[in-house]
Amino acid sequence: MSESQQKILYIEDNPDNQRLVQRVLGARGYLVLIAEDGPRGVSMARESLPTLVLVDLNIPGLDGYETTTRLRSLPHLDGVPIIALTADGTPESRERALVAGCDGYLIKPIDARQLPLQVSEFIGGRRDKVATGTDEVGLLRAYNQKLVERLEQRVRELSAANAELQELDQLKSQFLATLSHELRTPLTSLLGYIELFDRGMLGELSTPQNEAIKVMRRSGDTLSLQLNNLLYFQELRTRSFHLRAVHPQDVLRQIIATFKERAAEVGLRFDVVATEIAPIQADPSGMDQLLRSLLDNAIKFTPQGGHVRLVLHDEPSRLIMRVEDNGIGIAPEYLEKIFLPFYQVNSSLARNQPGSGLGLAIVRHVVDAHGGQVTVRSAANKGSVFTVVLPRSSASRMFS
Ligand code: ADP
Repeated sequence: MSESQQKILYIEDNPDNQRLVQRVLGARGYLVLIAEDGPRGVSMARESLPTLVLVDLNIPGLDGYETTTRLRSLPHLDGVPIIALTADGTPESRERALVAGCDGYLIKPIDARQLPLQVSEFIGGRRDKVATGTDEVGLLRAYNQKLVERLEQRVRELSAANAELQELDQLKSQFLATLSHELRTPLTSLLGYIELFDRGMLGELSTPQNEAIKVMRRSGDTLSLQLNNLLYFQELRTRSFHLRAVHPQDVLRQIIATFKERAAEVGLRFDVVATEIAPIQADPSGMDQLLRSLLDNAIKFTPQGGHVRLVLHDEPSRLIMRVEDNGIGIAPEYLEKIFLPFYQVNSSLARNQPGSGLGLAIVRHVVDAHGGQVTVRSAANKGSVFTVVLPRSSASRMFS
């Protein structure tokens, strides 16, 4: 496109008309931009400053009158002619278009021989006026009335759609809760028997059998973690967090043992850096869940030979917990999104890490319920640091 090329924005849903206008005006050196509907027309008019706008009055959604009213509210379109195109040639329709903010009115079918001349006249300053004697105030009032009725109708439709979505959401939650419970019972029994085999309580196992049991246990643990996340996430809506004095060491002992073992199994170094930590007002199961989610991620997203560190820093007014890794990291554009439920940077089924995308959503919820903060620093291929800050508080509080 040359610098001086004039742009015509054509808002029209009919492909035949789109092609015709593109061909006729294109041949005269105009660049014709097509918008299929009103909202797209408005955003294209915002992005590109058109020399002239042609708008079909009979378009779905936001109709041509409403689109014109909206375009007229864009300051940078001041002085840009908006021309209505319609098959309705009645004087009333013409006056209505002019009252809504159009500068001209062309009747369909489009006259290919006349159009370039008409367009250049409007670009050159032609402005059609409401016919003398027209009751402009009455027309405006009727137009406003119609706008309000349409708005009312839309609000009704949106409320109905919203109610339907809420019902579907409720059904989905119920389904997830039932499914997780149904899966948990057989899984618990499976894991119990695997544990008995693993401890040699069901007889001697050969080396290959032992290895197979270990693989089964790892897979079972992964399944169990995902199921726990799902259950926990479902419960969050109704769950109350009961904050009470917790010795962080009590929560940490089991977690550290589990993750030391998991890190060793996948060839990672795992360190814990912590001083003696004073009791903190917290919900023990929430704290357990959040640390497990962060450590699980650090291990999952750090390749073999890497390093994961849990750092706890005790301060008089707050407890700082950091989970650091030197794994695959997260590109800046994903850093906020990863806290959304079900969001995964790589959500393809071919990803080689298990996960449901709920871990960090749970972490954020738990941290919020404690009046704390979670932040992340990360760089792709360098690693990530998730920091959780929980305030110490003397009074026991209840959050939901
Ligand atoms: P998931 O079950 O997928 O682990 P999460 O909510 O815990 O769900 O995490 C969301 C996404 O954030 C992950 O799928 C991953 O893409 C990214 N992520 C989280 N933690 C890390 C990390 N330590 N290193 C790299 N990516 C991470």
